[in-house]
Amino acid sequence: MRIDILTLFPEMCYAYLEESIIGRARKKGAITIECENIRDYTLDKHNRVDDTPYSGTTGMVMQAQPIYDCYRALCDKLQTAPHLIYMSPQGKTLTQQRALELSKMGNIAILCGHYEGVDERVIEEIADEEISCGDYVLTGGELPALTLADCIARMVPGVLPKEEAYTNESHFASLLEAPQYTRPYEWRGRTVPDILLSGNHAAVAAWKRQQSLLRTKQRRPDLLEKADLSKSDLEFLAESEKEIK
Ligand code: SAM
Repeated sequence: MRIDILTLFPEMCYAYLEESIIGRARKKGAITIECENIRDYTLDKHNRVDDTPYSGTTGMVMQAQPIYDCYRALCDKLQTAPHLIYMSPQGKTLTQQRALELSKMGNIAILCGHYEGVDERVIEEIADEEISCGDYVLTGGELPALTLADCIARMVPGVLPKEEAYTNESHFASLLEAPQYTRPYEWRGRTVPDILLSGNHAAVAAWKRQQSLLRTKQRRPDLLEKADLSKSDLEFLAESEKEIK
């Protein structure tokens, strides 16, 4: 899979993309994630890529031409038109499910806005969808684009060591993950739940499932409506309800 980030700040993105799990995955070729510098495509003699908004409001708006030319050059390079996502606080909020669907596409391009945003006409012309990273506004689309690219990348085969590294995690099956512990056994008077040291794999799995159900019920009850729950999960949740009362 290949992801291209269209940005005015490629160094900002590479600082993240070259490190840790994503950096290693890129190096070994499990995924390609590259940046395209929109400024390289400006026709302005002063290298400008933005201008004042027609509405007369404050700030600057990114112009359509450099973005469009950057996108067209990418299409030519890839010999295909990637699925283009504009990161925007006005888009649909990113979910694990949407990232999973996107991880199965071959080519994705992510457009980062900056300043007051992007001339609407280029979004109409090239964007396939708009995705938001949450109901708040950031100065630019780079952090949202990296969030999306990271979330997609970890579900691409070969990026994480095993598939269960992400299928067991929070949000994958509309449940939050059970709490995690590592050495030492005792820290500041707090010990690790003994069941985790029992060596009984079935009992550990059952405990983790129950902790996951309880956490989700306490912290994100809205998720439980979408979760695939067995009869014994439902019985456990009903019992825990009685204990609370
Ligand atoms: N004027 C825009 C509005 O009110 O909808 C906000 C522009 S924001 C300051 C600049 C850029 O940051 C946007 O074009 C977008 O690419 C990015 N951005 C900011 N917040 C975001 C969010 N929550 N999700 C995704 N992208 C965001």
